[in-house]
Amino acid sequence: MTTVPLDIAFFRRFLDRAVEVVVASADHLTELDAAIGDADHGANLKRGFTSAAGAEAVAAAGTPGALLTAVGAHLTNTVGGASGPLFGTVFRRMGKVLGEAAEVTPEALGQGLAAAVRSVRRLGDSAPGDATMVDALQPAADALAASLADGGDVTAALRAAARAAVEGAEATVPLRARRGRASYLGERSVGHEDPGAASSALLVTALYEATDPELAPRRQEEPGRREEPQAAEVTPDAASAPAPAPGRVGVVLVSHSRDLAAATAGLAAALVGTGDPAPVALAGGLPDGGVGTSAELVRTAVAEAGEGAGVVVLCDMGSAVLTVKSLLGTGELADARLVDAPFVEGAVAAVVTASAGGDLAAVLAAAEDARTYRKL
Ligand code: ADP
Ligand code: MG
Repeated sequence: MTTVPLDIAFFRRFLDRAVEVVVASADHLTELDAAIGDADHGANLKRGFTSAAGAEAVAAAGTPGALLTAVGAHLTNTVGGASGPLFGTVFRRMGKVLGEAAEVTPEALGQGLAAAVRSVRRLGDSAPGDATMVDALQPAADALAASLADGGDVTAALRAAARAAVEGAEATVPLRARRGRASYLGERSVGHEDPGAASSALLVTALYEATDPELAPRRQEEPGRREEPQAAEVTPDAASAPAPAPGRVGVVLVSHSRDLAAATAGLAAALVGTGDPAPVALAGGLPDGGVGTSAELVRTAVAEAGEGAGVVVLCDMGSAVLTVKSLLGTGELADARLVDAPFVEGAVAAVVTASAGGDLAAVLAAAEDARTYRKL
């Protein structure tokens, strides 16, 4: 039986290995995110892990629990993007379960990972099969627990966890994303490995590799070494492909506030990431800059955003909704459809989906989906 101590040295080897592998794989992770997200996952994690490794609180940590907690706090603050709070939760939850012990038992490690996965699922409202990091983390936690229950030593159990995580990440390829930005793509998310699942597999593999002081921090092939992506897998999809004829669906943002409309459009464009955003036109506030809704600005915006494939209109409330509805009722906005969705979330979903080449039905559905997304 291997008896590698799960002490601070083990967890520091893990962190070194995690940083090394995240840096080495950053481009690959970003390519995965370019296909179904906003092409920042590798950069996000690289920033988060390299800065965590250099953080004072991390250097000062004296126990495994303190180290993981400090790394987690740092990831939440520095990663940016959805994976920041999610991975931050994984590390902090594990750190909390490991407590103040100088050396943790394999069983505690197993309980820590299981608790971390529960926390991520709760935070993200996500379950296995949603094509997220949970699809790698849940099988890893299950395999770790099963191997330990079978009498496996910690090295064997972490090897099994790493394999399960890699297989779980690969198994996201045929899945339709149901959480996170990739879910905006609906069916078009099928055929792509989820970036967060891929990075989770790398991190669980790093945990396995830390069981061998000789191997870490050297790059090695087993298990879970990512194969080079197939060309087809990383070919940017419609998000960065030329716009299909007859043009894309346009989006019009109608807000009482000129600034809010502009800022919402800016946020949506930023979340499109790579590629050329679909046409977005604004009807923010009154022509003189005051707060309110102008029918004239709405008409102009709908005309501006139209490329022949339809226009989706997002409103904030009150007079914005009433103005658009009345113009639609009079037939003045022939091409346009009002969508029942929260302004910011619906706008982001609509712009991302339209930019990816979605048709009018797809853009409406994506925006409406934002309405049913529960935050609690
Ligand atoms: P962003 O999506 O904000 O750009 P990243 O690109 O860094 O953030 O991370 C994206 C990854 O985060 C996804 O691939 C997915 O694995 C994970 N993710 C996003 N939302 C959720 C969620 N609700 N539940 C679980 N994981 C999620
Ligand atoms: Mg991203």
